[in-house]
Amino acid sequence: MNVRGPILSVGEVRSVDTKYGERDLAELTVRPDDGAADAATVTLWGKWTHTAEHAEPGMELLVTDAERDDHGDREGYTTSKESYVVLEPDFLVDVTDVRSWVQCPRMYYLNKLSGVPLNYPVVKGTIVHEVFGDLLRGVDLEESIEDQVADAGLELGLLGREREEVVDEVRRNAAAIEGWLNQGTLTPEGDEAGTAPSEWDGTPAETDWRSEYTLISPTFGVKGRADALRRGMPVELKTGKNTNRDPRFQDKIQAACYALLLRERGVPADTGTLLYTKNTALDRSEASGDLSPAKEFSVGKGLLEFVVRTRNEIAATEFDVSVPTGFEADAKCEYCFEQDTCMVVSGRLDQESKAGQIGTPLPEEERDYFDRSYRAIEEERRETHAEYRKLWEQTAEERAADDRALVDLDPLDREELPGGRWRLRARKDPEAVSKLREGDVALASDGDPAAGHSELCRIEELGEEVAVTTDEPVDLRRLDVYPSEISVDRMLTALHDALLKGDSDRKDVLFGRREPEFADGDDTFIDNNESQNRAVNRAVNAEDFALVHGPPGTGKTYTIARIVRALVERGDRVLLSAFTNRAVDNALEALREQGFEGAVRYGTETGVRGDMQDVRLVRRGEPNDRAAELNGASVVAATTAACGSRAMREQGFDVALVDEASQLTEPGTLAAVNLADGFVLVGDHEQLPPVVRAENDLQRSLFQRLIEDHPDAGVMLDRQYRMSQRIQAFSSSEFYDGALRPATPEVAGQTLADLGVDADVLPPELRANVAFVDPDGRREGNANPAEAERVAAVVESYVDAGVPRGEIGVIAPFRAQVAEIGRRTDVTVDTVDRFQGSSEEVIVVSFVATDSLDSPIFEDPRRMNVALTRARKALCLVGDADALASDPFYRRMLDWARR
Ligand code: SF4
Repeated sequence: MNVRGPILSVGEVRSVDTKYGERDLAELTVRPDDGAADAATVTLWGKWTHTAEHAEPGMELLVTDAERDDHGDREGYTTSKESYVVLEPDFLVDVTDVRSWVQCPRMYYLNKLSGVPLNYPVVKGTIVHEVFGDLLRGVDLEESIEDQVADAGLELGLLGREREEVVDEVRRNAAAIEGWLNQGTLTPEGDEAGTAPSEWDGTPAETDWRSEYTLISPTFGVKGRADALRRGMPVELKTGKNTNRDPRFQDKIQAACYALLLRERGVPADTGTLLYTKNTALDRSEASGDLSPAKEFSVGKGLLEFVVRTRNEIAATEFDVSVPTGFEADAKCEYCFEQDTCMVVSGRLDQESKAGQIGTPLPEEERDYFDRSYRAIEEERRETHAEYRKLWEQTAEERAADDRALVDLDPLDREELPGGRWRLRARKDPEAVSKLREGDVALASDGDPAAGHSELCRIEELGEEVAVTTDEPVDLRRLDVYPSEISVDRMLTALHDALLKGDSDRKDVLFGRREPEFADGDDTFIDNNESQNRAVNRAVNAEDFALVHGPPGTGKTYTIARIVRALVERGDRVLLSAFTNRAVDNALEALREQGFEGAVRYGTETGVRGDMQDVRLVRRGEPNDRAAELNGASVVAATTAACGSRAMREQGFDVALVDEASQLTEPGTLAAVNLADGFVLVGDHEQLPPVVRAENDLQRSLFQRLIEDHPDAGVMLDRQYRMSQRIQAFSSSEFYDGALRPATPEVAGQTLADLGVDADVLPPELRANVAFVDPDGRREGNANPAEAERVAAVVESYVDAGVPRGEIGVIAPFRAQVAEIGRRTDVTVDTVDRFQGSSEEVIVVSFVATDSLDSPIFEDPRRMNVALTRARKALCLVGDADALASDPFYRRMLDWARR
């Protein structure tokens, strides 16, 4: 039986005499049944007392295969021989983290903070891994090497490597793989060992080769991607050498982690293999020792228990966000590659560490900021883990109802693509909706993403038919939102780069030790809009930073392009960044419209819009050419997420201009800002705030903090080109102190008549520029069918009066209502988040709520500011008047709409 629940108290470890001799034990008081049952004593025996030493009240404990251990009227449990003890099982530890922890716990911490840098061993390692995967998929060796080296062209070029040199080195490493694979396929069971991937049925126990296998363990709180499985046994590839007979301990631990995860799925993985590819590249006449690349070891229960205890140490450290010192391990600092980083981090953060410290500690306010941000990012990581948990805690139906999965897909066909990847197709229920979008990375599975066969995929098509691409084929029966940790990882590295490596002068202004400074210049960059011209001047004259506050429709993108041009004209190299690909492409489009053609777009093929592909930096190719194209660009356009990539982290700019800065977390903004000497943030803190899961400091953007602390560093664009006077009035008075005005009389006075619409044909209630309709509906869950019906009728009225369908947009607060309305009309219907940044001639807003506004979605009025300001000529609000009148803000909105 499994015992699981919160720990109430932890007893000391003590020794007792037993019939097997003296043994250690520790008694913990736990509330089993996830806290629902009465408190019980759980006795941990032997080496599990090590986990007891890391346990604290408040943590969650899981003991698998526990036995009853009742004493009189006291209920209790004890570990058995089969038991595993897991601390904080909901905290998912990555397998690579367990590996670095056993090398030195502090190394785990440093890897988290500083991320994976751009260096040759890392890039070469990635190429060799890719070649390994290709070989397993049956690709020809030479073809694969050429292909994968070309794929890494940009990174190799940035590292100053020549193609031939890399091809040669990879070939020598790959020889080990090929030799070993051939050996493997010639085994007596070889007829099955060579099973083509197309026949793979997704069960790891198959006598088969598999590359890149994603494993998540709900029991042990471990996740990772095994390099390969060979007849259900984990194989790990290491591009270094090892001339000892046995694998390195940390490598063994990594393979043992995968064995543990496989066993949880019922695969009896009892052997691990490490493949040291450099062994075959060694000069046999000079090297001594065991030069065979493949080293096997058996995975016994003792090793698996050690893996779980180590994983528990990490989970316990993360529970109170404490920092490992390195004294916990036996590693010798003088042999450690991380020694310099380790000493700098210890010195800057004034942390105790075995390696010692160099440098001066951060000033107190920076240290506070670091600690607060670190904690907030880790809280966000926990929220991401909670999303992972839903993969197995929620039923398929619950996932679908939560918009997090498309379930019950009907597999249609699969097609092998060049390079060994696969395109999978399936049919979906036309009514099914979810958060998933084309271009997203998602989890494709056979129906059970945790215990079944799942593969990471990219969504190519999402209509009635679904098409995805994957490394390996899977029976495409379900698609889940994939809760990636990349954004939290990148936030941490951005925080590290800004605080521990960042320029002290920059930090003086960021932390309020001095005011931002500006030069005196005053030029005419834009002659027909005074606030835009002031904004360009502010940006160009900023010695530190400038802020451009752009309410809806104020020509923000035009101004951005003008700023970039002005900066480049004076000789600056500029990073043009934004939160979304869409905003980056829009800014680039404006720049090109203004005649500037020297920009390079950094992004993936699927992320970058079709009409910007011609300036997209192709990373594949001859290393020198690829690097020269990036290094030579005076403007590089990339999302802030891409700014955290290995290649971009090595780039330097004079100015970083970041659009949508009010939608970015502080560390998210820093990822771009870190790359430049000065920066310009463009945003509107009166529209949508950063999208984060945890409720903490991350919800406030750097843009908002700086504009509140340094209003003089900002310029508000106060003339809007979008909305009629009547439509903009509410937004202007509620959010911009009445300062937002129409740019021209034509903008102010626009009506549907300008579209050739005869207002008299419209029903009376829709004739005004701003209308309100109460359909007397009922909220059912997150939908309101009667209201949806009315919204569709309103849309038809506008269409009948002559408004083209493509000029009408419908906004609803919940995806369920978006679907409800989408079934009744063919105009664009979406949530407000998806509408930010765009506008339509006519906007219809559905509120869904009846009686009261008791949903968090109504709490932040800034969402309404976005919704109402999407409309140019007509706006129709459809909702329950009583519900809206129950809140002062919405009541004012109602009064305005009914005026
Ligand atoms: S330098 Fe020492 S304490 Fe620091 S990570 Fe390396 S082994 Fe650990």
